[in-house]
Amino acid sequence: MAESLNLRAGIGMTSARTRGRMIERLREQGIKDEIVLAAMGTVPRHLFVDQALESRAYEDTALPIGFGQTISNPYIVARMAELARHGEASQGRELGRVLEIGLGCGYQAAVLGKLAREVVSLERIAALVGKTRQRLRELRVNNVKPKHGDGMAGAKDFAPFDAIVIAAAFAEVPHGLLAQLGDGGRLVMPLGNATQTLCVLERQGDQFTERRLEGVKFVPLLPGVA
Ligand code: SAH
Repeated sequence: MAESLNLRAGIGMTSARTRGRMIERLREQGIKDEIVLAAMGTVPRHLFVDQALESRAYEDTALPIGFGQTISNPYIVARMAELARHGEASQGRELGRVLEIGLGCGYQAAVLGKLAREVVSLERIAALVGKTRQRLRELRVNNVKPKHGDGMAGAKDFAPFDAIVIAAAFAEVPHGLLAQLGDGGRLVMPLGNATQTLCVLERQGDQFTERRLEGVKFVPLLPGVA
């Protein structure tokens, strides 16, 4: 796999120019945090999907990653990162430790890894954790820690987090996770089942403010591990 990723890294279709067009589109779609845009400009999204889908990697679409799961579309990855950074109006703040729930293929974790000192990412499907851990190692993404486990429990040993990003939809805010947010920290998640809304909860001391933003479409957060 190492060799194939290295070979694939240089292919024309997958060049920095293609990524540049994706960044322009994200800007038009309203992403304002330049640090997020720069991060997305450097992560090779095509190397996070199967080779057969590589030519579609920079389209504004979710793509299958196996196990019935999908890689989120570029807009939603950028949007969640910008919200995690308090960057929706302008340039946001640097992040220390971030918790991601739903590692999947590792793309969003790699983007968050450019914006944070460390990312802990939980995934309930063991086979996906193994595959993604190897991919991240080959791509030398060293500050993302993939962990097999049920994200609903969070990762107490690593708390507090500056941000928690949930990449799967759930009908209610998982209140247990809020205790793992540091002061000023934000939890960003898709809230709902059939109809989902992007939701941001921000901690100020022991108070939480909640904002509901645009409609989104995510795979569901499932209980337990597989
Ligand atoms: N951030 C990912 C998106 C993956 S899709 C990427 O960039 O590719 C959502 C992922 O959440 C799936 O891989 C799914 O298996 C995982 N998931 C669903 N419920 C979960 C849970 N309770 N704990 C941890 N991961 C979960």
